[in-house]
Amino acid sequence: MAKRILITGAAGFLGSHLCDRFIKEGFEVIGMDNLITGDVKNIEHLIKLKNFEFHHHDITKFVHVAGKLDYILHFASPASPIDYLKIPIQTLKVGSVGTLHCLGLAKEKNARILIASTSEVYGDPQVHPQNEEYYGNVNAIGPRGVYDEAKRFQESITMAYHRFHGLETRIARIFNTYGPRMRLNDGRVIPAFIGQALRGEDLTVFGDGSQTRSFCFVDDQVEGIYRLLLSDYSEPVNIGNPDEISILDFASEIIKLTGTDQKITFEELPQDDPMQRQPDISRAKEVLGWEPKVSREEGMKITYDYFKNLGAEELEKREH
Ligand code: NAD
Ligand code: UDP
Repeated sequence: MAKRILITGAAGFLGSHLCDRFIKEGFEVIGMDNLITGDVKNIEHLIKLKNFEFHHHDITKFVHVAGKLDYILHFASPASPIDYLKIPIQTLKVGSVGTLHCLGLAKEKNARILIASTSEVYGDPQVHPQNEEYYGNVNAIGPRGVYDEAKRFQESITMAYHRFHGLETRIARIFNTYGPRMRLNDGRVIPAFIGQALRGEDLTVFGDGSQTRSFCFVDDQVEGIYRLLLSDYSEPVNIGNPDEISILDFASEIIKLTGTDQKITFEELPQDDPMQRQPDISRAKEVLGWEPKVSREEGMKITYDYFKNLGAEELEKREH
């Protein structure tokens, strides 16, 4: 009998790729989403399949799913700094109340649950690269705190359900991931830079661009999540690509990739923007036998082609 999995945030960037992967692996997939930052277009191709169902639902409201469930992937949450600054209360609620609902459902169904945590639990890190032992440096009351603290609470309550109820839990600390189906105007640096290049605008680097990030292609991320879910490991695991680059150098790479002659302009650095970020993935290598395979050059080419083919209407849509 096919395994049955609930994926929250299914119409979002990562959620939709996870739906694809679990369908491909022969699972029955239930995708749940309230579409606050997602788009049904990301899962349109799945709707007609008989082993996929879509539930339009806000998981901060009571969640009920009929029938058995073997697994839950809890991925619902705004994930771009612009999104969670625009909808701070929903961000806090989905990470806290939404997670509580998912854990309660997992307990009722005796299902294994994996929650999507984030490198943001390390805040503006004072340890580099970041390994899972590091407790982080988060400003709870700053504008990013709504996301960071919701995710930290999410990890705490997940471990409490694991320890107190013996629930099978998994925690993925996801580092910046990119690829097709990101929203062109969600404000994250990759769609922002590519969108600007395609519109013939200058690229906006925040601060002096010396802050670093390490970008992981979505296929690698999905493979890491898949292995973690099926592993027997309940402590947090970093999943990301350690190939680190400064945002200024990255802007130059995008200009080269898109073959445009855009300039770089400098804007104010957002408050609490982490200055350095690079995952230590020793644990993922050891426990999951996983490491990323797709280089930034390959991944960015695929991503650029995706955005280029979206068409003028999508390109001009401005949200912010
Ligand atoms: P996304 O915005 O594309 O997807 C999130 C999805 O969750 C959207 O479809 C949205 O509509 C849905 N959602 C939000 N609140 C909801 C609610 N209350 N009820 C039901 N659905 C709701 O973002 P993403 O990049 O795909 O991120 C997915 C998850 O991965 C998030 O939990 C995020 O924190 C985590 N994550 C992502 C990254 C990354 O680089 N992409 C990094 C770290 C963590
Ligand atoms: N950034 C930038 N210009 C933009 C958008 C983002 O310089 O138009 C910077 C941002 O300040 C941060 C980095 O790029 O230092 C990554 O930002 P993103 O929002 O993608 O992710 P996060 O900060 O959550 O890692």
